Amino acid sequence: MLDTPRFTEITPTADIRGDRHGKRAKCLQRLVRMDLPVPQTVALPFDTVREIAEGALPDLSTLIGIFDGEPRLLSVRSSSETPDWGGPGAVLNIGMNDAAHAWLSNTLGDRVADALYLRFIRSYAIEVMRLDEAPFDTATTPLEARTVFEEEMDEPFPQDIATQLGAVLRAMARAWEGTSARLLRQAQGAPADAGLGLVVQRMAQGMGPGQSGSGVVQFVDPQTGAPQVTGRYLGQAMGRDAIRQPDKAMFLTRDPRGPSLEELLPEVYAELLEVGARCRTRLREEMQVEFTIDQGRLAVLDAVRCPRDARADVAIVTALARDGIIPRAEAVSRIAPAALARLLHRQIDPDARRDVIASGVAASPGAASGKLVFDPAAAQASLSRDEPCILVRRETTPDDVRGMHAADGILTERGGTTSHAAVIARGLGLPCVTGATGLRISDRARTVTLPGGAILREGDEITIDGSSGEVMRGTVPTREPALDDSFRDLMAWSDAIRDIGVRANADTLADATLARGFGVDGIGLCRTEHMFFDPARLTVMREMIFAEGPEDRAAALERLLPMQRADFTDLFRLMDGLPVCIRLLDPPLHEFLPGEGEGTRALAAALDRPLSEVKSRISAMQEYNPMLGMRGVRLGIAVPEIYEMQARAIFEATATVQSEGTPIVPEIMIPLVTARREVELVRRRIEGIAAAVRHETGVAFEFKLGVMVETPRAALRAGEIAETSAFLSFGTNDLTQMTYGLSRDDAGRFMSAYVNEGVYPEDPFGTLDVDGVGELLLLGAARGRQVRPDITISLCGEHGGNPESIAFCRLAGFDYVSCSPFRVPVAKLAAAQATLLASDPAK
Ligand code: PEP
Ligand code: MG
Repeated sequence: MLDTPRFTEITPTADIRGDRHGKRAKCLQRLVRMDLPVPQTVALPFDTVREIAEGALPDLSTLIGIFDGEPRLLSVRSSSETPDWGGPGAVLNIGMNDAAHAWLSNTLGDRVADALYLRFIRSYAIEVMRLDEAPFDTATTPLEARTVFEEEMDEPFPQDIATQLGAVLRAMARAWEGTSARLLRQAQGAPADAGLGLVVQRMAQGMGPGQSGSGVVQFVDPQTGAPQVTGRYLGQAMGRDAIRQPDKAMFLTRDPRGPSLEELLPEVYAELLEVGARCRTRLREEMQVEFTIDQGRLAVLDAVRCPRDARADVAIVTALARDGIIPRAEAVSRIAPAALARLLHRQIDPDARRDVIASGVAASPGAASGKLVFDPAAAQASLSRDEPCILVRRETTPDDVRGMHAADGILTERGGTTSHAAVIARGLGLPCVTGATGLRISDRARTVTLPGGAILREGDEITIDGSSGEVMRGTVPTREPALDDSFRDLMAWSDAIRDIGVRANADTLADATLARGFGVDGIGLCRTEHMFFDPARLTVMREMIFAEGPEDRAAALERLLPMQRADFTDLFRLMDGLPVCIRLLDPPLHEFLPGEGEGTRALAAALDRPLSEVKSRISAMQEYNPMLGMRGVRLGIAVPEIYEMQARAIFEATATVQSEGTPIVPEIMIPLVTARREVELVRRRIEGIAAAVRHETGVAFEFKLGVMVETPRAALRAGEIAETSAFLSFGTNDLTQMTYGLSRDDAGRFMSAYVNEGVYPEDPFGTLDVDGVGELLLLGAARGRQVRPDITISLCGEHGGNPESIAFCRLAGFDYVSCSPFRVPVAKLAAAQATLLASDPAK
């Protein structure tokens, strides 16, 4: 064994490490240790590859000297720390030159020798020297290809293996440092300084006399994860030829559609099955194995984690745990929360009417509806307004990645299943349709012209189905994904591990039903304003807003009361005793009023008042900055009857559900608090209502009153606020907005530039800013607990579904996080992973 600091031969005892040499190198060492027939291999660590990119090659003659055999032909493959981070493609048959060609002609025949030489010259020219592919298309012999090479390069084709290997190593090392490779892997979670390892391996030829060929095998279905031998074998072929030419390749298992390896070489087939089974138990993973058969003898060239869809990943990992190969905790830690999110995709309701306006390539599964946006900044602006959007581009580039993160779906005019948009969208779990060629997109006019000539404009709603490639007009109803036993096992194991609660933000029965289906611990935020936007209620709400005096207002509230009571009764029944936290009305009242035009006239008619009066009342209610104006508890104090009506509705619903036998202690949350006195004022009135309802119904119920900490002052004064609050729930959407002095609705305009320039590491509305907003959370929680040690502390902003933010909350000792229902499984998994990490920080 030769071991120098710059490269290491892979032997059973060599010091090969995944975090230094990459996953592939480590995996090859495991195969060597399992005594599998792996050709001689040398690993180059990250540092060496970095130096190569900078121009310093290692001692190549020593490296090449490690390999024996005649002729000396080598391959180079990339070996990144995590396979998802990608890496440049393999280069095979390094060392092919005139001498090797002559040797191969004598031993394997001219045909094989010519094919290998031709192929190497092409790949060296195109992949290593970056020459254009087109001139080589007409070269059918090594001589012709050499001539093209020499014309294009103005130098002879290199005959020296060290020159060839040096050029290959340099090209691969530099490809890794390129901007698009970096952005692509960063989108998969790679750190900025992620390293690349390379492995140099002696070629085991799949070309020659007798039964020679190459193939790829895996032992599970890549879509479902169910056990099944899949793959192909191709005679007289190398590398992944069998996969690239499926029409020429043969099946592995017996198949009525054609010949199979099982029939052709039953012993080799049996050996392959044995390799798969041993890999599964020893490597504790389902592997995809690349092999060659060299004159009837099996060689295992490489094994990588079997590529798979999110659904298959969950099925494979949970099966490994059920078979006792890995512990359940490991299964939980292996699934990336983002991959789980992919499982949760909505599908178009098969019974829904579809107005299909175009179709393209089904590039990433799931259905999404949203408003058309034409650039990444607009997508980010939509996200900050909480408005679903579909990002439409002619084709995407790395500059679009941040906008893609913000969008709900991607539609491109060009591209296919492996175009940039498709690859990134799949990585992000976003529905995506590419190559919708019938569309004409004008970025300048912000329009999409449909095949028939009709025009869609920015803001128009469309639906895309990334599973079928269809693009539809409007919002098409969808069905929730079918979640199988593997998913349920994963959730149950996560629940058993996690030590922080996960609740859902649910405003409607539909949200709450979905959340219960995901096994949530309760509702952490019910935004009651959404209950008033129903058209029937909106009119009554507007009557209340326009009331002349207390009597009129009371009459309108009297009509709203039974509606709210029914809302809460249904919600409590559905949640069946699980905690439900209801936030009292938060937005400024003018949000319930129409803007200019038709709506104002209709309102005047509905209220039977002169249009001029309606207009002047609306304009009197306008605020310069409504986010910081008359909303939340300020409204609750200025117009106390609204909160009183809501409290009554909550308590009457509580009394009803409790008398049906379901214990319920409703949690009432006051928004936008800045001072203790606000809480005291609201508490006094609410306690009065509770006493009245107890008296009227004869039901003795309890309730909890708490505060939404979403202003910096509330966080700073959490100590005194806690004196009169049963819980503090951090509303990190507003808290982020106010801490940064940055409007949620306008942040998208410059957020990409800010993140690209490194001003902020991430969009703070997506991932909690642990340094600034996080400090307010820690401070508020500590001050609250100091006064009231048993106070419940939680987070209910959008960050509640973000894995890093969940880890922060767990570390800070929060009782629970609350997020939108669809993010609940991701949050549960992330919470379990954070718990596991804390119990084994070495991981
Ligand atoms: C918040 O501000 O974090 C919050 C959850 O409330 P909303 O998004 O309704 O303002
Ligand atoms: Mg808020």
